[in-house]
Amino acid sequence: MAQYADIILPLAQGTYTYATGGIESLEEGDAVAVQFGKNSVYTAIVARLHDEPPKRGSAKPLLAKLYHRPILHRQQLDLWRWIADYYMCTIGEVMRAALPSLIKPHAATHEEFEPYRPKVVRHLRLCCEISAEQLEHISQRAPRQAALIEEVMAAGGTLERSLTEASAATINATVKRGLIEIFEQEPSSSVDDVKVELLPQLSKAQLCVNEQIAEAFSTQKTVLLHGVTSSGKTEIYMHHIAEALSRGEDVLYLAPEISLTTQLVVRLRAVFGNRTVVYHSKLSPERRTQVYMECLRADAGQIIVGVRSALFLPLKRLGLVIVDEEHDASYKQSDTAPRYNGRDTALMLASLFGAKSILGSATPSVESYANTLSKKFAYVTLNERYGAATTPQIIISDTIRSAKRGERRLHFNKELTDRIAERLERNEQILLFQNRRGYSPYVECKECGWSPHCPSCNVTLTMHRQSNALRCHYCSHAINIPTVCPQCGANAIAPMGFGTERVEEEICRLFPTARTLRLDGDTATSDKAYREIIDTFARHDADILIGTQIIAKGLDFANVTLIGILNADNLLKMPDFRASERAWQTLIQVSGRCCRRDDIGEVVVQSADIQHPIFEILSEGDYTAMAASQLAERQLFNYPPYTRIIRITLQSEQPTTLAECSMALAQNLRRIFDSRVLGPVTPLIDKIRGEHRLEIVLKIENASSFSKARKLVAEQICEIEKSSQFRKVKLICDVDPL
Ligand code: ADP
Ligand code: ZN
Ligand code: ZN
Repeated sequence: MAQYADIILPLAQGTYTYATGGIESLEEGDAVAVQFGKNSVYTAIVARLHDEPPKRGSAKPLLAKLYHRPILHRQQLDLWRWIADYYMCTIGEVMRAALPSLIKPHAATHEEFEPYRPKVVRHLRLCCEISAEQLEHISQRAPRQAALIEEVMAAGGTLERSLTEASAATINATVKRGLIEIFEQEPSSSVDDVKVELLPQLSKAQLCVNEQIAEAFSTQKTVLLHGVTSSGKTEIYMHHIAEALSRGEDVLYLAPEISLTTQLVVRLRAVFGNRTVVYHSKLSPERRTQVYMECLRADAGQIIVGVRSALFLPLKRLGLVIVDEEHDASYKQSDTAPRYNGRDTALMLASLFGAKSILGSATPSVESYANTLSKKFAYVTLNERYGAATTPQIIISDTIRSAKRGERRLHFNKELTDRIAERLERNEQILLFQNRRGYSPYVECKECGWSPHCPSCNVTLTMHRQSNALRCHYCSHAINIPTVCPQCGANAIAPMGFGTERVEEEICRLFPTARTLRLDGDTATSDKAYREIIDTFARHDADILIGTQIIAKGLDFANVTLIGILNADNLLKMPDFRASERAWQTLIQVSGRCCRRDDIGEVVVQSADIQHPIFEILSEGDYTAMAASQLAERQLFNYPPYTRIIRITLQSEQPTTLAECSMALAQNLRRIFDSRVLGPVTPLIDKIRGEHRLEIVLKIENASSFSKARKLVAEQICEIEKSSQFRKVKLICDVDPL
C-alpha cells in the first residue's frame, strides 16, 4: 500500500502530498476529503500514489475516501495534466472546471463535510401474493389500501413511489399490514436499443462521403468534413455514431452553443434513445452531477452531446469524437482558466483513447484546413445541399454609392428595401443580420461632441432604448439616457450607429405592416425565450427576424428567401489577424440560412468597401481561394498556423506599476525569445472594471519547441510574481488565444 498521495485541490494551485493514513484500496482518480489550512475541508482528487516522503515537514493524513470508486479514469486525469501544461494554468483550476460543483463539497470542518449522495428513487413492492378474496376483504374495510395494492399489482408488482396518488398515510398503513414494502434504488441505468431502421437514408453524395470518411479512418485518426450548410452533416455523423455504438464505444459530440445541443438531442434521441445525454453549464448543479455520476456508472455505449465542458465527463471507452462547427470561436474559453479550446482539447482526449474524430464545418478554420494540407487530418468535402437545394445569389450593395444617389435611407440601401418590399408582398420571410445588440453603439451631443463613457471601462456606453439606459457591455454599468447634454446643456443628444433594437424600430417605420422579431442577447435571455422566438418565426407568425451572430448558427427556415447583412464593414474592420477569415465565415453561415427551394434565395450584403477581396471570394463561394490567401498572409506575418501564440495580459488598477511591470517582463522575455516578443502593447480596450491592461505577445515558430517555450515563459512570470514591487499586478497567460 502506498504511503503518500499527491492530491489535486479545487484551487488555483498545483498538487500537494498527503499521507494515505491507512485508507484501504486507494486508487488514482479517487475523491478524498482533506484538511487544507485551518478552516477548510475540501474534496480533492488523488493524482498519484507513491512512497516518497515530502522533502520538508510531515504530510498530513487524508481524512476519508469519498466514493466507492474513482470518479475519473486515467484518461481524464491525463487530460487534466495536459490542459494544465498546455494552457499554462494550475491543475487545480482544471479540476474546478471539470467537476460539477456538488461532487466536490467543501466545509469548514470534517464533521460538517458531507459527500454527495446520489439521488435515489423510492419504489413500492408487493410483499406477498394477494388473492382476489383477500383483496376483496381488504377493500371492504380499507378501500384506499386495496386501491393502492391493485395499482402496484397492475404495474407488475413494483411501482415508483412518485407515480401513485395514494397518500403517505395510506402507504404507511399498507406497509404496516405487511402487504407492501418500500425500497430505494438509484435511477435505472438500462440503455435503449439503437433503432437502426430510423437512421436517415443517405443521399448518393452523402453515402459517398460516408465511405470516404470510413476509408480515411483506416489510416488516419482525424477527418475534416467540409460540407456546405444544409448538406446533411448531422445525418452523416449519425451513421458513424451508430457504428461506434455497435462496437460498444462511447461518443462525444460537441456543438459550440447550448441552443444547438437542444435541437440536436431531439434528432439523436429519435434513433439512439436514452443513450443520448446532454451536458452543459445551463443544467442545474444537481442534474449535472447526476449526469456525471451516471456516466461513471454506465457501461460503454453512451452519446454525450454538449458544449466544450462535456469533454470532462468520465467516459470509459471513447471511440468517436465529433466537433461540429469546428471553426466556431465559442469553443475557446477565454474569460477564466483553464483557457482551453474545446475542439483542440477534444482531439487530445481522442488521442488519449486512440479514438477517431470528425471535425465538421461549412466554413472550416484556416488552422484545420492547413492540417489537411500537411496530411495531419484527412479532408473530405460535400459540396451539395441535401435535396434539390440551391445556393442563394449574393448581391454586394455599395452603401457609399447608394448614399450619393440619395438611395440610402438610414441604415438601408434601396437595393435592400426594394427587395424587402417585394418579399413581403409575396408573403415570404426575411432575415436581417446586424452584429451589434442594443439601440446604438454610442450616443453623441450634436453641439459639442460629448459622448458618455463607462467610468470603469474604456468603452462608450451602448444605448438601449427599451430600458431607457446607456449600458456598458463589459461591466453592465448603466445610467439613464440624459435628456440634455451634461457638458453644454444643449438638447442635442443623438444615437450614433445601429444596433439590432434600432434596426427593428426603423424597419417597423419603413414597413408598418410587417411583423418583426428580434433575436439577440437582450431578447434570447434563456433557452426558453430563444426557442419561443425561433418557433414563432418558424410558424411564420412574423415576417422579419432581426438578429446578431446567434441567427448565424444552425437555424433552418424553409420560407426565408431574403437575407440582409446590414453592415459587413463592422466584421471586416476588427483589428485581428483573423478578421477576414471570421468575416467570411459569418457571411457564409448567415447566407446558409436562406431558403433552399428553387432559385429564389438572395443575400444582400451592404458595405462601404465593395472592392475588398473577400467579396469576390464570397460571391464565388471559393473556400480554397479564401484559405490560400489567408495562409499566405499568415506565413508572411508569422501568424498561426505557422507560429503559436502566447498572449500575456497584465492587469492592474495602477497604470504606472502596470507599465513598469510590463516593461520588466517584456525585457526579461526578450533576453530569451528575442524578436519573438511583441509589446507591451495597449489592447483595443485598455481598461475593464477599473483595471488597466497591457499585453505582451509571443510568437513561437513551429520549428521551435513549444513546450520548452511555455516552460521558460512560466519561469519568467513566476519571477515577476515573486517581486514585491509588482504584487498588485495580475498576469494572465492565454495559449492559442482567439
Ligand atoms: P448541416 O449540418 O450540414 O447544415 P443538416 O444535417 O442540418 O445539415 O441537414 C439539413 C436539412 O436537411 C435538415 O433538415 C435535415 O433533416 C435534412 N437532411 C439532410 N440529409 C438528410 C437525409 N439523408 N435524409 C433526410 N433528411 C436529410
Ligand atoms: Zn453637448
Ligand atoms: Zn464598464
